[in-house]
Amino acid sequence: MPDARLVYLIGDPVAHSHSPLIHNAAFRAAEIRATYRARRVPLEDLAEAVAALRVPEVLGANVTIPHKRAVIPHLDALAPAAEVIGAVNTVIRQDDGTLLGDNTDAAGFLHGLDDEHELHGAPTLVLGSGGAARAVVYALLTELRPTTLTLAARSPDKAEALAADFAALGPDTALHVVSLREAGPAVRASRLVVNATPLGMHPRTDATPWPDAGDFGPAHTVYDLVYAPAETRLLREAAARGARAIGGMAMLVGQAAASFERWTGTPMPLGPVHSVLRDHLSR
Ligand code: NAP
Repeated sequence: MPDARLVYLIGDPVAHSHSPLIHNAAFRAAEIRATYRARRVPLEDLAEAVAALRVPEVLGANVTIPHKRAVIPHLDALAPAAEVIGAVNTVIRQDDGTLLGDNTDAAGFLHGLDDEHELHGAPTLVLGSGGAARAVVYALLTELRPTTLTLAARSPDKAEALAADFAALGPDTALHVVSLREAGPAVRASRLVVNATPLGMHPRTDATPWPDAGDFGPAHTVYDLVYAPAETRLLREAAARGARAIGGMAMLVGQAAASFERWTGTPMPLGPVHSVLRDHLSR
């Protein structure tokens, strides 16, 4: 790559994002002459912001809230994960100038499960039914293939719609939907519990999607997609009862690594990225 290239983050807001830190550290470490820039784009400017990605200087973009669905009509093609999940977090400018939409959140989620084979087929519960839950359910049904997958949400109608959209992906998985209030038996019976709600996120760190921490034990892996703080109340309480706890930073880096590789054809240098993030978060 002889000339300096650009990657954008398109969203609103973007000021809080860790992505510029992650990708600029990775470009430096991989000696790739590229810069990652966050660009706040209100919805009325989305079409223009996407059109600006078609020039040869641009490698691609990340897309974040609230544009992950709205960006789709502005793209030329979708990768299978983005098609099924119904949301795009990564745009790749291809050599012919066309724009491919992909979703790397599912790959990022799996990145956090380093011994995922141990959880292959394990009964699983997902709390929440928003955009992140869709990526998680896609990853579960296509890779871990749980025998039982329960979706627990405060709006069960949304979880029912999610289950209906994805049912064909997991013919061997029994899919159930319950309200959050009724999720106790599924929490106790599951080996993997995933929080895909924002409960526990900074600044409301006293919140948790599952206050009945006595339901957790050593057989559980609890995976919280929330990454700020690194250890949420959910993870702290689950770990105190012997559960294995995984924080959202692993997914954040995993989805970034998958995007980086799609733009550059080069694996992300993970060591320098983790070190920059640790320094940043300890300040
Ligand atoms: P979203 O699309 O807004 O969905 C949020 C989900 O949480 C919805 O099901 C929502 O229910 C539910 N919810 C929100 N507040 C709730 C409450 N007080 N009680 C019960 N349920 C509640 O958001 P998202 O994009 O899926 O993100 C969810 C979380 O995952 C966020 O904290 C985000 O930062 C995190 N995330 C992390 C990564 C990572 O790389 N680590 C990647 C993506 C997302 P309703 O549908 O009823 O509103």
